Amino acid sequence: MTSNNPNRCAECVGKVPQCGMAIADTGYCGSCGFLNEVWDTELLAHYRKRGLDQIEVCASYPLSLPRLRSSHNPNNSVLPRTMAEIDQEIERVAQIKAEAKTE
Ligand SMILES: [Zn+2]
Repeated sequence: MTSNNPNRCAECVGKVPQCGMAIADTGYCGSCGFLNEVWDTELLAHYRKRGLDQIEVCASYPLSLPRLRSSHNPNNSVLPRTMAEIDQEIERVAQIKAEAKTE
């Protein structure tokens, strides 16, 4: 993982995000480099900017939002999601909620 990897483990994150481990997933920490439960700090900041509560990240599928942009399986070669793909996920969840309200 490169040094611009925003994933942080509990040792390196500083203040543990609201919801704690419920919104962490397995990945490489961008600070210490160890494979651990990590938070994607940029992604969580992005959700906050979009007015989304971190509670929504710990919701269960299909109402949950991705916890990490990188694959939680470090041996998986799937490329990290872009913020545009994340925004599509946000849209998808918003739509499900809107439909649930009108029924
Ligand atoms: Zn770390």
